[in-house]
Amino acid sequence: MKVLLVFAHPEPRSLNGALRDVAVSELEAQGHEVRVSDLHAQGWKSQVDRADFPALPARSRLKVPGASKDAFVADGLSADVAMEIEKLRWADTLILQFPLWWFSMPAILKGWVDRVFAYGFAYGVGEHSDHRWGDRYGEGSLAGKKAMLMVTAGGWREHYSARGINGPIGDLLFPIHHGILFYPGYQVLPPFVVYQADRFGERDFETAAQRLRERLRNLETTAPMAYRRQNAGDYTIPECELRPGLEGAGDSGFALHLRDDGKR
Ligand code: FAD
Repeated sequence: MKVLLVFAHPEPRSLNGALRDVAVSELEAQGHEVRVSDLHAQGWKSQVDRADFPALPARSRLKVPGASKDAFVADGLSADVAMEIEKLRWADTLILQFPLWWFSMPAILKGWVDRVFAYGFAYGVGEHSDHRWGDRYGEGSLAGKKAMLMVTAGGWREHYSARGINGPIGDLLFPIHHGILFYPGYQVLPPFVVYQADRFGERDFETAAQRLRERLRNLETTAPMAYRRQNAGDYTIPECELRPGLEGAGDSGFALHLRDDGKR
C-alpha cells in the first residue's frame, strides 16, 4: 500500500509524535510506502484567502468555490496545495492524525482540508441534475481509497460512550468521517482512538503502541464503516433524503446513514 499520514501536532516529541513514529515504522515494516505531511513542520497556512488563487485579478471579488474550481481546472492552485493533492492521488490509504481539540481537529488540519479538498477535486464533481446529485458520498475523485483517523483525547472512553457526557465518539467524528472523507469517495475505516492521553505513562504508551501496530497490520482487511452510498438508491434525488422505511427501529440523526449491517 501507499500511505499518506497527515500529522497535525505542533510538537514532534509529543505523545502524538511518538505514535506517529510507531505508525510509520510499523507500516514500513509491513512493506508499505509511507509519506508524511507534517503540517507544522511544513509551515502549513491554514486559512483560505486570495493568495490561494494567484490568477484571480486583484479587482475581482473572491468567491471561494468558483476561484477554487477555476484554479483547479487551470492547474493554477498554489504550490503547497497542488503538492498535497498529488500526495492524495498517490496514496491509496490516508491517515489523518491529530489530538482532539475542542471536540474536533486542530485548526491547522481543518485548514488543510479547506484548502486541499478543492472544487472539482473533492467537491463539485460529477453531474448535478434532477436525477443525479454529483459524485459524492461513496463516489468521487478519491473512490477506491481508504482513510482512517488516529486521534488522541484527554477524556475517558466512558465520557465518549453512548451515554457519555461528551457525546458518542462516533457522533463527534461523523462530520469528519462522513462529511470530509466519505464525501469525496474514501472508504472510511473505524478510527484508532487513544483516551485519557494527558495522563499517559510509559506503560500506557506501550499498550497503545501495541494496539496501534495491530490495527495497522490489519488495515487491508478491516471492514469500512457501512455508510449508505448516495447514488445507490437509498436516497431521493435531488433532495438527498433517506427514503422512508429504510431506517432501523428508533434510528434518527447520523445513524440513518449507516446501513443496517454496519450497526452490529
Ligand atoms: P502530550 O501532551 O505530548 O503527552 C501526553 C502525556 O503522554 C504526557 O504526560 C507524556 O508524558 C505522556 N507520554 C507517554 N509516553 C510518551 C511518549 N512515548 N512520548 C511522548 N509522551 C508520552 N480532550 C478531549 O477529550 N476533548 C476535547 O475536546 C479536548 N479539547 C482540547 C482543546 C485544546 C486546545 C487542548 C490543548 C487540549 C484538548 N483536549 C481535549 C486534550 C487533548 O486531546 C490532549 O491534550 C491530547 O490528545 C494529548 O495528546 P498530545 O500528543 O498533545 O500529548
